Amino acid sequence: MKIGVIGGGQLGRMLALAGTPLGMTFAFLDPAPDACSQALGEHIRADYGDLDHLRQLADEVDLVTFEFESVPAETVAFLSQFVPVYPSAEALRIARDRWFEKSMFKDLGIPTPEFADIQSQVDLDAAVATIGLPAVLKTRTLGYDGKGQKVLRTAADVAGTFAELGSVPCLLEGFVPFSGEVSLIAVRGRDGETRFYPLVHNSHEQGILRLSIASSQHPQQKLAEDYASRVLKQLDYVGVLAFEFFEIDGGLKANEIAPRVHNSGHWTIEGSECSQFENHLRAVAGLPLGSTKKVGESAMLNFIGSVPAVDKVIAIDDCHLHHYGKAFKVGRKVGHATLRSADRATLDRQITAVESLIDQA
Ligand code: AMP
Repeated sequence: MKIGVIGGGQLGRMLALAGTPLGMTFAFLDPAPDACSQALGEHIRADYGDLDHLRQLADEVDLVTFEFESVPAETVAFLSQFVPVYPSAEALRIARDRWFEKSMFKDLGIPTPEFADIQSQVDLDAAVATIGLPAVLKTRTLGYDGKGQKVLRTAADVAGTFAELGSVPCLLEGFVPFSGEVSLIAVRGRDGETRFYPLVHNSHEQGILRLSIASSQHPQQKLAEDYASRVLKQLDYVGVLAFEFFEIDGGLKANEIAPRVHNSGHWTIEGSECSQFENHLRAVAGLPLGSTKKVGESAMLNFIGSVPAVDKVIAIDDCHLHHYGKAFKVGRKVGHATLRSADRATLDRQITAVESLIDQA
């Protein structure tokens, strides 16, 4: 089976690393000459709106999937005429726009911060009067790794901020004084079968995910699964979906969903019986889903900007290096390490060991 992937970054690369043993082959459509997936399959170097090359992709593959959600809606609609596309155009339409996404949470009874659609500075001033400060202004589309958003704490932060974010449609959200951030990686097959990985605790630095630790028996696991199930059913979703939540006193508030494999699920490559990448491919290909059980304690540390000395990283016990083969650049995710251990105290020591290598890099 040949899988077409829109996007050729590290997520596409890890999809191919998981699918190759299943007998799958891959074609990646990505305009970047140095797309890091190209070592693992055919690279169709073209813009996402290039209809000739999209048609070529559709003719060559059995199905198409995505490694990022900001794909133009026309691209998805065009491909869907010729080849099965998972997740669906509708799932991408909702997940790529924070207004549609939060409105869906509200309709499904899933708690989420108060929010308002902002089309102008006048809208922003009115919404701040209702929602209050602090609040967070975010662009409706194209935001990632903390980009395209600003925390508003005082009236001075509000003035001129709509223009500062580019005068594009935005969303104002009430600020959530959360105690932690967790994500749930879910997978749903073509037949509707659904499985969940254990909730993951996430820590960010300057808006970029730094550390994910898979939980054991998190008290809100069932609640998170209930919220995610509502979304998966509503979207008749096929594939892996990541659901990010804020932890608040005794509950969860939905932050956002990503209709794809997710950075906070990278630990599953070695930390679970069947990784998020393999399960995504199983789901879209109509194959039986794999076990989402954790094997021992597990964590993931991102390498941002550069990868520490390889010999030192892999010398740490049960530490698994994933080097994306990308050029090093400040603020860019260029690799990660998965850590595994039988107990949490050992895991914490491994995390400290990798962190000290990052500090030296
Ligand atoms: P996002 O791109 O929406 O995932 O936001 C990036 C990060 O900003 C989140 O992981 C949170 O740490 C923080 N953040 C986003 N929205 C809010 C909010 N409404 N209240 C408090 N912190 C937020």
